[in-house]
Amino acid sequence: MIRHHFTVDVEEYFHPTAMAPHYPADGWDTLERRSPEVIARLLDFLEEREVHGTFFVLGWLAEKEPAMVRAIASRGHEIASHGYEHELVGRLGPEGFRTSVGRSREVLRDVSGAEVVGYRAPSFSIVPGLEWAFDVLLEEGYRYDASLFPIMGHPTYGYPGVGPDPYWIERPAGRLAEFPSTTATVLGRRVPASGGAYFRLLPPMLVHAGLRQAAARGGPGMFYIHPWELDDWVPRVEAPKLQMIRTFHGRRRTWGRMERMLELGRFGRVDQWLVAMEAGTPD
Ligand SMILES: [Zn+2]
Repeated sequence: MIRHHFTVDVEEYFHPTAMAPHYPADGWDTLERRSPEVIARLLDFLEEREVHGTFFVLGWLAEKEPAMVRAIASRGHEIASHGYEHELVGRLGPEGFRTSVGRSREVLRDVSGAEVVGYRAPSFSIVPGLEWAFDVLLEEGYRYDASLFPIMGHPTYGYPGVGPDPYWIERPAGRLAEFPSTTATVLGRRVPASGGAYFRLLPPMLVHAGLRQAAARGGPGMFYIHPWELDDWVPRVEAPKLQMIRTFHGRRRTWGRMERMLELGRFGRVDQWLVAMEAGTPD
């Protein structure tokens, strides 16, 4: 039975791109951090179900909460990078991106004691035209990327030219494994079915269909969630109502939906599949 990927983008409620305008970075230090409490609960939840996953941790947060990162690693999960300060890749440019992925990898490695080989861009922001990012990742010691979302029509992300299954990206700097986000084909249309807001707001059968279709093709599906989607606490912020709904609505359902999803399939760490891909024997 295929082992899908259970992944978490570990960041605070003030980091998502939609929330960033309301929380300037120079004030982050003064804000309450919610992720340690939520992650502790998630680690227990996963342990009860014997699930291990990959946690893409923001470098900035790892510096503030090293004990949380150590707890994730010590419970058998993979530590990977979500960049340093949640800047979009296109906004960073090649040199800023190099600093972000290099610095976050170093911090995560120092804090966890584990090798860091995986990366996911904030808001899936490796989009067509930014392929230099793959070279930078390889040069900085990464072996896989999980930033591509193979859809079109989303205002800020999407890499429509690729399929939803893991594949090798051949670059001047070498060969990088890519683990795109899962899509489902429903009534002939490709729709996002990978987690996050799609998991909270749309019928759960959509994510189940995406995972089932991935397994039928012989590959793992990708599931992702954020700590702020699993928290009962809502930040007090003056953001447009529609934005607040997209970012925070449906969170009470998320635990139950995750429970059901974990019953329907097997889930694991991305680096396990990577090792099999490198050996030429993904199962
Ligand atoms: Zn993020």
